[in-house]
Amino acid sequence: MITLKEALKLNKEELNKFKEDLKTKIEANKDLNAYIDVNNIGDGVPIAIKDNIQVKNWSVTSASNILQGYIAPYNATVIEKMSEAGLSPFGRCNMDEFAMGSTTESSFYGKTQNPHAKDRVPGGSSGGSAAAVGAGLAIAALGSDTGGSIRQPASYCGIVGMKPTYGRVSRYGLGAYASSLDQIGPLTQNVEDAAILYDIISGSDDKDSTNAKMDDKVTPNLNPEKKLRIAVLPQYVKDASDDVKDAYEKATQALKDAGHEVIECDLMDAKYDISAYYITATAEATTNLARYDGIRYGNRVEGKNLEETFIKTRSEGFGDEVKRRILLGNFVLSSGYYEAYYVKAQKTRHIIKDEYAKIFENVDLILSPVAPTVAPKFGELKNPMDMYLSDIYTISVNLAGLPAISLPITKNTDGMPVGLQLIAKAYDEQTLFDGALSLEKTINYKG
Ligand code: GLN
Repeated sequence: MITLKEALKLNKEELNKFKEDLKTKIEANKDLNAYIDVNNIGDGVPIAIKDNIQVKNWSVTSASNILQGYIAPYNATVIEKMSEAGLSPFGRCNMDEFAMGSTTESSFYGKTQNPHAKDRVPGGSSGGSAAAVGAGLAIAALGSDTGGSIRQPASYCGIVGMKPTYGRVSRYGLGAYASSLDQIGPLTQNVEDAAILYDIISGSDDKDSTNAKMDDKVTPNLNPEKKLRIAVLPQYVKDASDDVKDAYEKATQALKDAGHEVIECDLMDAKYDISAYYITATAEATTNLARYDGIRYGNRVEGKNLEETFIKTRSEGFGDEVKRRILLGNFVLSSGYYEAYYVKAQKTRHIIKDEYAKIFENVDLILSPVAPTVAPKFGELKNPMDMYLSDIYTISVNLAGLPAISLPITKNTDGMPVGLQLIAKAYDEQTLFDGALSLEKTINYKG
């Protein structure tokens, strides 16, 4: 598959021919279920879009039954920015319903397969986006990351996935999951393409009140030769699988070989991240999902009266995982438990943020696992708690609002990719991409 950098140089005829071929290829790989719809809009370089980002006049459903029939009335800001840069939305990618999940199994459209092994999950929630790029069915894709949903599927599918600093990329037109954590970001074949797409979608937007209103670009200054101080976390990695530990050692050595200074640090037990995240995310999700009542958006199931219409619409429209989170979110926000759970989670969030700030007093970047294992097989995560625990290495980055990038490092003996992530200070995407380019060059991963 050509890279985004190469695709941006194609002329109109070349591009049209490329898109025709791409459609045929997607059709031939329908089993993968990476795309839920292909509908070339505009005449730019085709980019795959997660099904929770609005493209005007195109169905957008967050892979939920409740949003069947809903047509986006406007473009998300990222789509506007893409069009200005000569890119166009090409296909809709499968995802976990409302971006809740780590496997893409909770989608209304059925599961997506991992392009490296059909009996394994592609990760989630941006599993369709990652599988499309990993299978050579997209040049690049957009996903959203609330607790790892770009980085983890990227790692499982052997590609690059980047989560920007909170506020760098406008959330206008993104279907909200947990508004204080959500960020849109790129999934690409390599680090340079991720930087190119990040530059295109990031920047000021008055339509999002949490937007950072910063317009600096990374690609003009990309420098993989810059020598950096990089933290490694030996204690933190201890509970990961041997595959991940091997990749971690390999990457640590590669960073040393590239001339970076590697410094051993520690982060607090990640079990607190899981608790703080699942309380915060479900509390916000409950609030955000209250708008799906059958009156304003998508599907409605009529009842005898208004209340019954709400109940029937929501009971039939939402899947099990979404319902579980609505229940949990209401519980942690309810008057008897608000102080004990929600307020405590916010305090823990502060501690996590402070901990990162402390490490960043001495280093430029942190090297961390993305997931504890390679992509699990379908059905391997037996219950929701197993799935929540698999987010252990990604969620603190969202709680702290930091930028991070996942890139492929090795393959295990089954041929499954193992990715790791670099994490940077808030707003320091420049150093993040410089370090990631350096690691990518030194590791020289073959997909
Ligand atoms: N797996 C996490 C969750 O289910 C993260 C999802 C995401 O980043 N959207 O909440």
